[in-house]
Amino acid sequence: MLKRACPVCKSTKQIVIQNIQMNIPKDYHLPDNYDVVECTDCGMVYADTSATLEDYDWYYTHFNFYGDDSKDDNSRRYEWMEELLEKYLTKDSMMLELGAGNGRYSMALKKHGYTGVTATDPSDESVQRLQDAGVEAYVTNIYSEVLEREKEKYDAVFLFEVAEHLLAPRRGIANIACMLRTNGYFMVSVPDYSMIADDMCSIPNYFNLEHINYFSEDSLDTLMAQFKLVRMDQKRIGGDLVQVYQKVSDKIPFHRDEQTAAAIRQYLNRQHVRQAQIKERIDQLQKQDRELIIWGTGSYVMSLLATTKLGECKILGFVDNNRIKQGREMYGRPIYAPDYLQDKQYMVVICSMLYSEQIRQQLEDMHTQNEIVIL
Ligand SMILES: [Zn+2]
Repeated sequence: MLKRACPVCKSTKQIVIQNIQMNIPKDYHLPDNYDVVECTDCGMVYADTSATLEDYDWYYTHFNFYGDDSKDDNSRRYEWMEELLEKYLTKDSMMLELGAGNGRYSMALKKHGYTGVTATDPSDESVQRLQDAGVEAYVTNIYSEVLEREKEKYDAVFLFEVAEHLLAPRRGIANIACMLRTNGYFMVSVPDYSMIADDMCSIPNYFNLEHINYFSEDSLDTLMAQFKLVRMDQKRIGGDLVQVYQKVSDKIPFHRDEQTAAAIRQYLNRQHVRQAQIKERIDQLQKQDRELIIWGTGSYVMSLLATTKLGECKILGFVDNNRIKQGREMYGRPIYAPDYLQDKQYMVVICSMLYSEQIRQQLEDMHTQNEIVIL
């Protein structure tokens, strides 16, 4: 039964592609499963989740893991954006970054001589960090009513790696359109799920508790067209898609997304084979009855705990590089910093969708006695 209408076109007609299950810590307040569905009207693929805006608000307020800049994901964003900035904007353009996270991009804009930069984030911590770095910043949520002084103010609005998280993207984009002056630019980046079956591209995290909209260039265009935002430019960086839209006054044509659902089906079929192998490895671990430390605390672990016997293994605790997670507990077990493993002799099970090779290298560089298993 439908829980969420299409986030792009509001249609309630959908086809279920697959159910995704996760063992989610209780304090996250998020449902432990959702269906990946295709909108039969516009072709958008999305998570038909029962979570509400309040649930996500709770989750992102209490589990804001993005403030930790020991994670280097977006350190090159300015570099990636430089040519688009030079093409469409000037040093005194009024600019707004929404969901600025660790603030690195807004700080880089300032450093490179852009004078009209404002950044916002729902997290006090992130905003404080930006203000400390001399960037004009304030706390707000993409869904908050647009302040009178913010209306039609900006020459450019940036939204990086946020749209795929939004339960109500139409509300967010309506606000952005409202803040842009006519002919202003909206620059948005998302993981491109129409590329998911392509082995050469890496889309982080795939189907997890945070990514609930699986955009492609077409579905993004369909969403934007409804707010009179027309695509002017595009850039691809690995599995990520950056698109530049201009706010216009005419109606904009758009077309159905014909690729993403097929790509996602192909990817999920391939995953079933991989999952069978991983299940077998975990069965062995469980039979060996060894004490384990799990390196990784994200969605991948949650899905393994829900769909395999990993939860029946003797898990002593978790390790994570993210400093915000260290010292917390998950499933009643401690989350340690990597240093914890220094003089230990455990079996360390690496559960990371993206960084397992780097983690293995990191652990080997520590020259410990721990045994390493990669799932
Ligand atoms: Zn739709």
